[in-house]
Amino acid sequence: MSVDTQKGRPDLAALPDQAPALELRGISKAFGPVQANKDISISVQPGTIHGIIGENGAGKSTLMSILYGFYKADKGEIFIGGKQTVIPDSQAAIAAGIGMVFQHFKLVENFSVLENIILGAEDGALLNTSLGKARKELAHLAKEYELNVDPDEVIENLSVGHQQRVEILKALYRQAEILILDEPTGVLTPAEADQLFRILDRLRSEGKTIILITHKLREIMEYTDTVSVMRRGEMTATVKTSETNPEQLAELMVGRKVLLRVDKKPATPGANVLEIGGLNVVDEQGVRRVKDVSLTLKAGEILGIAGVAGNGQSELLEVLGGYADGTGSVKLNGTELPLSGAGSDGQARRAAGIAHVPEDRQREGLIMDFAAWENSVFGYHNEPEFQSGMLMDNKGIQAKAAEQMERFDVRPRNANLSAKNFSGGNQQKIVVAREIERNPDLLLIGQPTRGVDIGAIEFIHQQIVELRDQGKAILLVSVELDEILSLSDRVAVMFDGQIMGERKASETNERELGLLMAGVTGEDA
Ligand code: ADP
Ligand code: MG
Repeated sequence: MSVDTQKGRPDLAALPDQAPALELRGISKAFGPVQANKDISISVQPGTIHGIIGENGAGKSTLMSILYGFYKADKGEIFIGGKQTVIPDSQAAIAAGIGMVFQHFKLVENFSVLENIILGAEDGALLNTSLGKARKELAHLAKEYELNVDPDEVIENLSVGHQQRVEILKALYRQAEILILDEPTGVLTPAEADQLFRILDRLRSEGKTIILITHKLREIMEYTDTVSVMRRGEMTATVKTSETNPEQLAELMVGRKVLLRVDKKPATPGANVLEIGGLNVVDEQGVRRVKDVSLTLKAGEILGIAGVAGNGQSELLEVLGGYADGTGSVKLNGTELPLSGAGSDGQARRAAGIAHVPEDRQREGLIMDFAAWENSVFGYHNEPEFQSGMLMDNKGIQAKAAEQMERFDVRPRNANLSAKNFSGGNQQKIVVAREIERNPDLLLIGQPTRGVDIGAIEFIHQQIVELRDQGKAILLVSVELDEILSLSDRVAVMFDGQIMGERKASETNERELGLLMAGVTGEDA
């Protein structure tokens, strides 16, 4: 299903004299003490897909926000089509031919596609005459760029992939020549992502210029013509995609060599640790989120749960971790666990030997106002080893926290700092350190590397594999299919609350899992 973009690629060498579609010169931007962008210069050729890659916090979104008129640069100049352009607000950006597709769409849910597209583009009094005109224009755009959506459908009835198309159409309706997409595939199934890239390919062949921000090396390698790398506010390199490779890009992003593949031996599974039978979870609104799920997980094994966000994986983790009630049967080492009422809460689960790195670390994994050292025992604080007489053994906990921070390379190395003062990646390291340290029989781990830098991803993955090799059972939930495939020994796919299928990781691939994630089973396909 992958798109052959190679043949659509313009010959960059053949177009040397054209003015760049976009040129930035010496752009700098500080937020207080944080230098988000440092003297950034970049030149983007028209009719190309230009990727921008960089770790979290590298400054990519800041740079794009300057370009779209959300932030004012402290210094620097912007040239569009060779002409110096001042962009004080998003109206000016639109007027200059820049379109932005946001990560969290800004569409009005209960309005139609057509209404959303003209919203803000025309003034209210003209709405009715505009609708007729817009309908024609939309039909034209849809045809030209193969961007099919029903103009009269209400946004909330559209899939995420189609909502994104509406965002793109909205930008094109405003005559964007330069389209910026900030992490556009985070919310898409693999098939939807393929469709998106087919559309981008089409836009490029019509002469549009596309700036693609992504942290996914694969997308950069497959779909871009040129790639710029950002690290700590600086643009560290711009190279032709055909002349680089994922390892080099990762090194440019992180500033050191990074192991991109998870280094692991085949699993040697032991006895059943977790046995789930006919598990159901109904949420507070009465919606069934987990439907008759049965799964088995053995010691020394990583079972990955793949799925598009919102298909019941979160609720599955929550009920196992003691954060939600369920019905059915869950056994840990042969012992039935209560799924509601007494003894079914998070603390009881931890006491039973289930460690949990929750998906939502800020809500369930940490107390944001508490110090890192206090968080290093959160959930386990009542256990005897952390008591000293009638009180908490603060000295002992602090010493242990300092040691954990050292080993997990938590930065800054200050256990007295509140959790909220660490970056997302470092918060995650605090939680992972705490849970792995418990030496649990079963580790539940949700989105282990969401918002985490490449260097720290490598480290967290190694820790998970090490735990497996010590004979522990690991249930991994992740919306990153790459992560599921590289870490798991077995993969189960969830769709609409159900398990659509189970595969050995070594015997499946992204395409097969992608179909299951979209609810297509073998028979349908
Ligand atoms: P990226 O998109 O590459 O992840 P960002 O551009 O969002 O990076 O952030 C770059 C740096 O600027 C980070 O350290 C971030 O915390 C900081 N930053 C971004 N926006 C703001 C803001 N509005 N106020 C203060 N700091 C900000
Ligand atoms: Mg960003």
